[in-house]
Amino acid sequence: MPKKKKTKKKYIFVVGGVMSGVGKGVTTSSIGRIMQSRGLSVTAIKVDPYINVDAGTMNPTEHGECFVLADGDETDQDMGNYERFLGVELSRLHYMTTGRVYQSVIEKERNLDYEGKCVQVVPHIPLEIISRIEKASRTAKADVTVVEVGGTVGEYENILFLEAARMMKQKSPDDVLTVLVSYVPMPNKIGEMKTKPTQHASRTLNSAGLQADIIVARSEVPMDDVRKEKIAQFCSVSSQSVISAPDVESIYHVPLNFEKAGLSDILLKKLSLKARKRDMKDWIDFATKVQKAEKTLSIAIVGKYFATGDFVLSDAYISVIEAIKHASIAGGFKPQIEWLDSSVYEKDQKLLKELDSYDGIVVPGGFGTRGIEGKILVARYCRENKIPYFGLCYGMQIAVVEFARSVLKLEDAHTVEMKSEPLHRIIDIMPEQKKKIARGDYGGSMRLGNYETVLAPGSLARSAYKSDTAIERHRHRYEVNPEYIDELEAGGLVFSGKSPNGSLMEIMELPISKHPFYLATQFHPELISWPLKPHPLFVKFIAVLGKQSSKSRK
Ligand code: GLN
Repeated sequence: MPKKKKTKKKYIFVVGGVMSGVGKGVTTSSIGRIMQSRGLSVTAIKVDPYINVDAGTMNPTEHGECFVLADGDETDQDMGNYERFLGVELSRLHYMTTGRVYQSVIEKERNLDYEGKCVQVVPHIPLEIISRIEKASRTAKADVTVVEVGGTVGEYENILFLEAARMMKQKSPDDVLTVLVSYVPMPNKIGEMKTKPTQHASRTLNSAGLQADIIVARSEVPMDDVRKEKIAQFCSVSSQSVISAPDVESIYHVPLNFEKAGLSDILLKKLSLKARKRDMKDWIDFATKVQKAEKTLSIAIVGKYFATGDFVLSDAYISVIEAIKHASIAGGFKPQIEWLDSSVYEKDQKLLKELDSYDGIVVPGGFGTRGIEGKILVARYCRENKIPYFGLCYGMQIAVVEFARSVLKLEDAHTVEMKSEPLHRIIDIMPEQKKKIARGDYGGSMRLGNYETVLAPGSLARSAYKSDTAIERHRHRYEVNPEYIDELEAGGLVFSGKSPNGSLMEIMELPISKHPFYLATQFHPELISWPLKPHPLFVKFIAVLGKQSSKSRK
């Protein structure tokens, strides 16, 4: 049999111009999705220019959510977008930071892997970056690998990553493309879209040795042909390669808008790739449902990572928001999400009454002491007033503490994360974690990534999953203290998910005869919810809210 000709691997680098935060991650994910819809195998890589080895040690208020992969890697929230849009699980091979790249170059140097050569920033750092990109692409058996370079062009920080892209392009000009995602402002007073910042960004990219093949022009409203021509002319691209990307109601519409502009055809042509006819049916169905959903569900997320200066930063909980949306849309609902700061209830418990007006409450993951007593009050209020409560990680730990205090009457019950020597250490440090903290070993050292949970027969959790077991992603240092489990269960708390050896409590719930939905998980179900595959626990939560809205409770 004649040997099948191996198709060459293709790479699309996505870089930012003008300013950050204009949607490079969604562009990367959407490019991946449209190429996938042409029958190609696609993967994505995120490059973060920080010295941090991973995102685990960064403050979510500044950096947004820390997204945990199945293998436990603590990464940037964009990795979550890639998984959600592409419907694939990614591994640590798909995430790199400057720190991670340098760390491995230094390790190799210490191992004499460079055989006595002088190890230099250039070319050894870009070469390490290239070898990582190629390895991720090979391992994923990807025809097309989309690489998002964090930051914007012109910064010191990402220059070596751009150099890696340049070197790859120089070696295989037909296999590497650059997409510049640029911002096109429309200042109020001027009333016209200004292309100059994009022209500058394109020139800055040129000075790094790269020419944009495609320019995705982010703006508030669609861009007209006059502006497109101008960008084309001054940035040396064809006008078809200037893709207008106006603000959209839902990020899930972005791939569809790209396809309206024929982007996958343009990319395929530039990369000399043959592909199948477009098949985006599933995605179109989902995006249509987003628009059609009419009945509103009001859901409050009670947390603390909200305020940064005068602004509310919901990025810290992006996966929670998306998971709520996926399940709501699947059920035909439109979620209306509000942010509640738990610390206000500590000052005035009467304010808890406002929880009555929500269909459901979510208490997401968190760390540290601020606002925790407020969250405990919320857990109690929801339990006593039968308000649907869904706790995620810290949201489970505080619910168990609350139960111990109110139902078992262990008034001094607490988590040792909050109080070092409570009388009742209901949530205790995991023994392994104790050793790590004693060594000052904080980075990448929690219980991270995939672990199995065995689900109890007859439980709400089991009925949601429709399965005996589940595999879920984790990120925590503390756990329910095994010494209190019998007492908690005797008091009426159900641990409906446990680790296979029965030692770690993974899910707690109240029986449905006592409460319509009071369930919390030690893991983070939100991390594996995808638009085309909403998470079963969120689906159940939304289904209960749909049946029993705040109005019918009254
Ligand atoms: N702070 C808690 C712990 O480390 C919960 C972590 C989380 O919510 N991700 O166990």
